[in-house]
Amino acid sequence: MAVNREAFEKLTEKLSKRGITLVAVSKTKPASDVEQLYALGQRDFGENYVQELLDKHEGLPADIRWHFIGHLQSNKVKFIAPFVYLIHGVDSFKLLQEINRQGSKHGRVIRCLLQVHIATEETKFGLSAQELHEIMSSPDLGTLVHVEICGLMGMASFTNTPDQVRKEFASLKKLYDLYTDHPSPHVHFSVLSMGMSSDVDLAIEEGTTMVRIGSLLFGQRQP
Ligand SMILES: *Cc1c(COP(=O)(O)O)cnc(C)c1O
Repeated sequence: MAVNREAFEKLTEKLSKRGITLVAVSKTKPASDVEQLYALGQRDFGENYVQELLDKHEGLPADIRWHFIGHLQSNKVKFIAPFVYLIHGVDSFKLLQEINRQGSKHGRVIRCLLQVHIATEETKFGLSAQELHEIMSSPDLGTLVHVEICGLMGMASFTNTPDQVRKEFASLKKLYDLYTDHPSPHVHFSVLSMGMSSDVDLAIEEGTTMVRIGSLLFGQRQP
């Protein structure tokens, strides 16, 4: 296994010029692949599965910032709460409450992104604009002292139509802008997580601040 060093260097140059953070998505890839990118200076890595994240966190350098980008079940929050750097896929108030509970246990404020459903496919997780609004205007936000809501995350449709993807990213950016001056002390928007290997350039054009890139760096995953 070898990471695509040339793609990594081209991408990091493009992103750093614009102040965009790269999360290298290492799911299903061996720890040695993570070590290769780490040696090139990469520190933000993303994983989808709790057990895989725990294994990699245990065996790899302590200064890696681990992002959880998958769908998180409430009963698994406790495993990643001690160390996770950013949870991207939060899609219910109940999950925020559990993250808050575990943050409190570990004396941490856990950084989260709310996932918004922007794609046409029905299977993808995420909040509707209305559900997002309900969370952001909830009087109970004030109870989440061990949570910081740092922004939004979204996944565009799997489609070959760039205009569709662009539209979806633009709709997410618009929601993001709506909440940048939120009055809650537990809400500080600074992260808009959108863009993967296939649509990273569109995401950059539509104002992403954080991209999640797997196959472009690590090669295709086994299905
Ligand atoms: C797997 C995954 C990615 C990375 O996808 P690539 O197409 O390999 O870049 C990004 N975000 C999420 C939520 C993922 O599950």
